[in-house]
Amino acid sequence: MFYIGWCRHLGDASSYLPTLIQQVDYYAILTLVSRDYKSMHDRADIEWAPRVSLAKIRALYVREASGICDDALVDEVGFSLLWRCESIIEFTEAVKGWVKCKRCARSGTTTFIERKLKKPSEILRCPTCAWHVRWRVYVAEANKKGGRLEAGHALEAFQRYAGTFPGCSTPKERILAIDRLIHDFHWILLEEGKNPEPFKPAGLNLLQGSTTQVLELLEELAYGDNPAPELKAVQEWWQSQKPIARRQGR
Ligand SMILES: [Zn+2]
Repeated sequence: MFYIGWCRHLGDASSYLPTLIQQVDYYAILTLVSRDYKSMHDRADIEWAPRVSLAKIRALYVREASGICDDALVDEVGFSLLWRCESIIEFTEAVKGWVKCKRCARSGTTTFIERKLKKPSEILRCPTCAWHVRWRVYVAEANKKGGRLEAGHALEAFQRYAGTFPGCSTPKERILAIDRLIHDFHWILLEEGKNPEPFKPAGLNLLQGSTTQVLELLEELAYGDNPAPELKAVQEWWQSQKPIARRQGR
C-alpha cells in the first residue's frame, strides 16, 4: 500500500514530464524507498535481552530469606538472566567474527555469517535467508540495550549458567544457579603460573546499574537466618574476595 501511494502521488505530480524521465524517477525513487524499508526491516530483526533490574534481584532474595517461595519471581528472574547470558554469548561470538543470523533464529534455525573484513562498514549477508546488516548498525543496536554485551573475562560463568539453568528442575536449584551466576567475576591472570584474580563482578553485564550500585547490591543481599548451605558458602566466598575493581574504587 505504501508503494502504491507513492506511485500515485508521483504520477499526478509529474504527468507533464517526458515519459523517459518519469520512468527513471520512478525506478530511482522506488529503489531508494525499497532499500530503506528493507534496511529498516533488517535492523528490526535485531533483538538483545536487556539487563535485569536490581529491584527484582533484591525482591527475590528478600522473599527467599523470609521463607516465601515465589516460584513465579524465581522463573522471571532466572529466565531473564538466561536470555541475557545467551545475548552476551551471541554478541561475544559476533565480535570474534561469527554473527548469528537474527532472521533465521526467529524461524528456529541457526546460521552463522562470517565477518571477513572486520570493518565497521562491512555488510553481513545471510546465505540462507538474505537478511543483511552493516556491522556498525549491529553494534549500535547492541549499545541501545545499554551495551555490556561482551563477555570479557567472565565468559565461562555465562556459558555455565546458559548450560545448567534450563536443566534445573526445582526453584531451589534455580536460585542456586542464579546466586552463583551473579556472584561470579571477570577473572584475569596477572602473572603466569598464578591463580586468576577477580577483576569485577560478572553481574555488571547482567544487572542494571553502575559498578557501585551492583557491588552494593551484591554485598547487601539478604540470605535470612537459616540460608541453604550452598547459599551461605557462596556468600562467604564472595565476601572473602577482593576484586581489583573494588580495590581501585571502580
Ligand atoms: Zn538467515
